Amino acid sequence: METKIKSSRETLQRVSSISTMKEISQSLRKQNLTIGFVPTMGCLHAGHLNLVKRSLETCDRTVVSIFVNPTQFGPNEDLDTYPRQLESDIEKLETLGIDILFHPTQEEMYPAGYKTYVQVQDITEHLCGKSRPGFFKGVSTVVLKLFNIVQPHNAYFGEKDWQQLAVIEALVEDLNLGVAIIRVPLVRETDGLAMSSRNRYLSPQERQTALSLSRSLQQARDSIRQGITSAKVISKSIRQCLSEKEGTEIDYISICDPKNFTKKEEIRGRTLIALAVKVGPSRLIDNCIIEEF
Ligand code: AMP
Repeated sequence: METKIKSSRETLQRVSSISTMKEISQSLRKQNLTIGFVPTMGCLHAGHLNLVKRSLETCDRTVVSIFVNPTQFGPNEDLDTYPRQLESDIEKLETLGIDILFHPTQEEMYPAGYKTYVQVQDITEHLCGKSRPGFFKGVSTVVLKLFNIVQPHNAYFGEKDWQQLAVIEALVEDLNLGVAIIRVPLVRETDGLAMSSRNRYLSPQERQTALSLSRSLQQARDSIRQGITSAKVISKSIRQCLSEKEGTEIDYISICDPKNFTKKEEIRGRTLIALAVKVGPSRLIDNCIIEEF
């Protein structure tokens, strides 16, 4: 049997054309090499790099995409100001030793006359889907396109975007895409703040205020551990914690089923607590899972 040998990690290959990316993937597949894929919007932090490391550990070749996907941004959202720092992202990826960076232009992905979108139903009606109409349609469409282009065996996604993961799992299952979706745990800063490219927008004061998200989740965990099971009571204490400092605007606090996102009255069985809060210019999300107890 042919042994799979990793290439010596010279420089990473930068690809912006869809047809070149497809040719590379087809050739890797012909050589029986497994392709791990990490889709991102760039401005990479340790949360992203953790996904990349998981892929490098398991797959013969790792492809990372950097593409700020316009179709997942609403008209009043931060598409134009979303942080972009390709050169320093490349340095980080080179240090890790990934094989290929796919960074197409908007025109390459959505040429004039583009007209096809995919939409996952039901689970997208809750949480972020409710407050960001069109967001998951954009995410599902770009992920399907990227899967068709990169043709990965495995694709790695972070549990920070818990609902997004569920949407992608549904997309893969319903459309028989044959890609293994690997869940990777949420990565936090040492003080608890969930890592996010949007943390860069925060002033030092807003950064302090943003800590209330992870703090409120930690307090909720403690209360639940002490026996409080009423979702209403927990939700109220989260709201209180989030409102303590000025400058927060709560989008949602959801205590729900982690698979279908329906609201729970009582915290019994596996439960997701998910938050979306605007702090200054940034809309931040965070979540925790309460395991069955
Ligand atoms: P983004 O660039 O924000 O679209 O994210 C690309 C991927 O990185 C998604 O799968 C995210 O869930 C994941 N990701 C972003 N932040 C984190 C984090 N703090 N911990 C784990 N995964 C993350």
